Amino acid sequence: MHLQTHFLSGWCIGNLFQLNGRERLFCALAAALPDFDGLGIIFGQEMYWRFHHVLGHNLLFTVLAAAAFCCFSEHKAKMLCLCFALLQLHMVMDLFGSGTLWTISYLWPFSNREFSIPCSWELYSWQNILAGMLLIAWTVLIIKYQRRTPLEIVMPKLDRQIVELFNKGKNNEQH
Ligand SMILES: [Zn+2]
Repeated sequence: MHLQTHFLSGWCIGNLFQLNGRERLFCALAAALPDFDGLGIIFGQEMYWRFHHVLGHNLLFTVLAAAAFCCFSEHKAKMLCLCFALLQLHMVMDLFGSGTLWTISYLWPFSNREFSIPCSWELYSWQNILAGMLLIAWTVLIIKYQRRTPLEIVMPKLDRQIVELFNKGKNNEQH
């Protein structure tokens, strides 16, 4: 699936839990992180096809990545479980929505067995567009009711401005 869809899936789910801003960012990063292996494209098509859905899309990587996020978090046990689950969610989303050509080498480097499901759909499909739009709608609800955006840590000033914009009507009613 698309990177932004993965990112928002992590951020939205992170908002269901009592976490701090940095931990919510970690959730978003965990949900998108496996796609770092697509950076092989910098070195050419061959590297891309060889390593995308291999290096970052496996159980070993998800365990290590979840442990790394946990180390830098305040709520350690919660973040370990949540990041691990979000990394698995990335695999599930990819199994369905990355196109019929892609498989996932989930047991790499211990086994080269490739996993796929027969009912997957193309990357550019209505299913993926719908998933992206639903996550954007969820994000808007969080901005409105939980009063924060995915930018809360990286651009706090812009985060505040967006929250204020979405709650303008509400604030006016209160005055
Ligand atoms: Zn992926």
